[in-house]
Amino acid sequence: MTVLPELRDCEQHGLESSSDRHRLEAFFSQSPDGFFFMMLDRPMHWDDSVDKEAALDYVFDHQRVTRVNAAMLAQYNASEADFLGLTPKDFFAHDLETGRQLWREMFDRGRLRVETLQRRLDGTSMWIEGDYSCLYDSEGNSIGHFGIQRDISSRKQEEEELREMNAALSHTVEGISKLDASGRYQRVDQAYANTIGYRPEDTIGMEWQRTVHPDDLDKLTAAYQEMLSAGKVKVEAKGIRKDGSTFYKQLTMVATYDKQQQLTGHYCFMKDISESARIEAEREEIAAALRESEENFRILATHAPVGIFQTDPAGDCVFVNRKWMELTGLSFARAMGRGWTEALYAEDRERVFEEWYEAVREDRAFFLEYRFETPQGEVNWVVGSAVAIRNGDGVVTGYFGTVTDINAAKQNEIAHRQVEEDLRRSEQKFRAIFNSTFQFIGLLTPEGIVVEVNQAALRVVAAERADAIGKPFWETPWWTHFPQLQERLKQAIADAANGESVRFESEHIWADGSTAFVDFSLKPVLDEVGNVVMLIPEGRDISDRKQALMALQESEERLQALIDNAGSVIYIKNPQGQYILINRQYETLFHLERENVKGKTDRDIFPEYIADAFRANDLKVLAAGIPIESEEIAPQDDGLHTFLTIKFPLLDASGVPSAVCGISTDITERKKAEVELQQQKQDLARSNDELQQFAYVASHDLQEPLRMVTSYLELLERRYKGQLDPKADRFIAYAVDGATRMQILINDLLGYSRVGSRGQSFGRVDCAAILKNVLRNLQVAISENNAIVTHDPLPEVNADATQLTQLFQNLIGNAIKFRGEDPPRIQIGVNRSNGKWLFSVCDNGIGIESQYISRIFVIFQRLHSRADYPGTGMGLAICKKIVERHGGKLWVESLPGEGSTFYFTLSDAGAIPS
Ligand code: ADP
Repeated sequence: MTVLPELRDCEQHGLESSSDRHRLEAFFSQSPDGFFFMMLDRPMHWDDSVDKEAALDYVFDHQRVTRVNAAMLAQYNASEADFLGLTPKDFFAHDLETGRQLWREMFDRGRLRVETLQRRLDGTSMWIEGDYSCLYDSEGNSIGHFGIQRDISSRKQEEEELREMNAALSHTVEGISKLDASGRYQRVDQAYANTIGYRPEDTIGMEWQRTVHPDDLDKLTAAYQEMLSAGKVKVEAKGIRKDGSTFYKQLTMVATYDKQQQLTGHYCFMKDISESARIEAEREEIAAALRESEENFRILATHAPVGIFQTDPAGDCVFVNRKWMELTGLSFARAMGRGWTEALYAEDRERVFEEWYEAVREDRAFFLEYRFETPQGEVNWVVGSAVAIRNGDGVVTGYFGTVTDINAAKQNEIAHRQVEEDLRRSEQKFRAIFNSTFQFIGLLTPEGIVVEVNQAALRVVAAERADAIGKPFWETPWWTHFPQLQERLKQAIADAANGESVRFESEHIWADGSTAFVDFSLKPVLDEVGNVVMLIPEGRDISDRKQALMALQESEERLQALIDNAGSVIYIKNPQGQYILINRQYETLFHLERENVKGKTDRDIFPEYIADAFRANDLKVLAAGIPIESEEIAPQDDGLHTFLTIKFPLLDASGVPSAVCGISTDITERKKAEVELQQQKQDLARSNDELQQFAYVASHDLQEPLRMVTSYLELLERRYKGQLDPKADRFIAYAVDGATRMQILINDLLGYSRVGSRGQSFGRVDCAAILKNVLRNLQVAISENNAIVTHDPLPEVNADATQLTQLFQNLIGNAIKFRGEDPPRIQIGVNRSNGKWLFSVCDNGIGIESQYISRIFVIFQRLHSRADYPGTGMGLAICKKIVERHGGKLWVESLPGEGSTFYFTLSDAGAIPS
């Protein structure tokens, strides 16, 4: 990172160029990565000559944050005031040891890159990827350090989730690696790399042995050899990751050869073995350790030169060794249980029992000289001794004893002690294994009586050993909550006593009231001759897994309910086009059931051309990797319907589309409405056109006959005025007047219809010039009425010049015509408003009553009689049409008696289509 030295310089010496400094400041404050400086209050010498522990003590109290950027503060959810001045101690209060180690490494190396678990100021934790560089003065003394930090909690979590997901989906996730002929990795894919805990690139050239757990190295070496001879091998083995954790995998190794049949290397396919296989493997490990411990004991006991026996707490024999059998002449089987008492010499029997019970009562070792008599009548004097075996809580679980030929007593004393010592060790070892596991483990007699149980099991039910030992297993605190489960256990014990291994999932209620799920198994232990001598119950708490599974199920159900209640059709298909999921709406609309749809493609469901259209859209989404919206056609009971569909890809962990999800909404109705609307619009436009056409034709064609009527009436008037009677003269005058008015009306109507149909194209028009023209046209009216017309500076606009002239003329003409008592004063204003020109024509005339305002823009509508004010009522209708043709609006504001202001807008620029 090249910015480091620059920033370092800038911090230490200040920067010459202020623009450089700005650039760095901007970078510092805006970077998404957290930056900070932590400076010491005095330079510090650091090398092997100093007492580093003492130096670190000092640093942890005296190095302080001196600068920090916004991103860093955001990471710690802190304000700058909180953050400045913090010491290493503050950051690592939760784990000083780790903090000191990091600091020491940083000072040792000068630079440190690490991922650490850190605490925010509010105590929550986060994963930080940090890059820390020491800062030195000119003498090479440390003066502090500079750090860049990034919060990678979410990445960590993702990794964690990925790991969990991989575990859950283990049977589907495969990893592949390619190794060369010398057994070194050549290529490793991401999944494989994840499993062995390396980055793919870091594995290149690494020997495969480094990823194998030492326990399984022999096994894999053998497998490797087998692959070399057989070409292929499958093996399950324990691996070891870079961080030392272990994993179990099934590996399939396939050798590769070149044309000369020379080995070129091999492929290794990694397959997750199931969770149960993993548990099995771990269980096997523990069982093996147990077996080893037992085997040691057995060998020891069998070959010891003294007689050895073991009984349960009740004194029933469970084991005797060869020497014991020699001394008593009894077989192993006959010695078991109460059988051993047969070997006692009749006269000594009473004495032996007395001493035995007394020893038990007084809780001391049994020690006595007595005689055995073999079935052949041979009598042997022995010294018998026995000690109680106690579990961790001091409860007696049985007795170990020895019997020594009295003649050889001296020699055997030493052996005797040795044996006892060995026994104790074996017992300790056994117990250590027993209690150090989180699994629940115990020992049962074949009848199901508890002989031993470990701490982990006792802890969950808050029981003492005494609560369990010697009791039928099904009546112990683990099992008493569910009678059905007790029955199941009884059956399992019976089966295990017959030599079968039993395994089932059980539900329990622990002492803290929680419900737990346990993966429980019961295994028989056989002696040399194949008799079941003991049962080993084992349990593993799988509640977390179970709960996670249940939560997953629940969330899945919720999701399903959600999409089922959606009004749209929802479905998910895999890249091959097979349905993975559909919702209820889908089922309803297409009369299908999800069970029958899963795994099918659209071709199985819809006519080919429809299915292919669907598929084409799916493929588009898969290829583009982004949501795509389209309209799709699908058959319904009443024919084809149109669906508006959004399809989007579902991405897998590596960002590759792994499925297409579609949401389709039936828009057939909307479509229909749209079409109808379109139709109506067209009808309206046509009807308007027709009307316009009619108005034009009518007014145009009426003019001709009307002109004839008028001219003949005028002829009549000229020729016969005064020759007929006075009444006739008056009638002719009325007729002439009517015809003239009609001509004006028709003219105006024609003008109106021409606004739309005969308009000229738009051009740049100077409004000032137009106004000048208008005032000239209105000159007579203006001077007759003593009117004064004033105006703002007027702009150029894009308009039809003739129509604009007419517009101003009509409005100003009206303002003069509808004058009040005072001489008309008319002001023409103009303003910019919302990118348009807003014109106003303001007068001091008679005004308009508000209820009539909407009427005046309609053709032939007037508020006054012709006698008061001449006119046809067409003027404002024409104005309105002109303004609308120019894309504007015309309206009026008025107060009766005070005057009116007519407003209209015109677009600033750009042609408005005619
Ligand atoms: P005409 O002027 O031929 O009557 P118009 O369409 O121009 O027809 O006007 C319609 C009506 O609006 C007029 O008859 C009048 O009553 C009213 N009017 C128009 N301009 C004004 C104005 N400046 N002051 C008051 N009334 C007006």
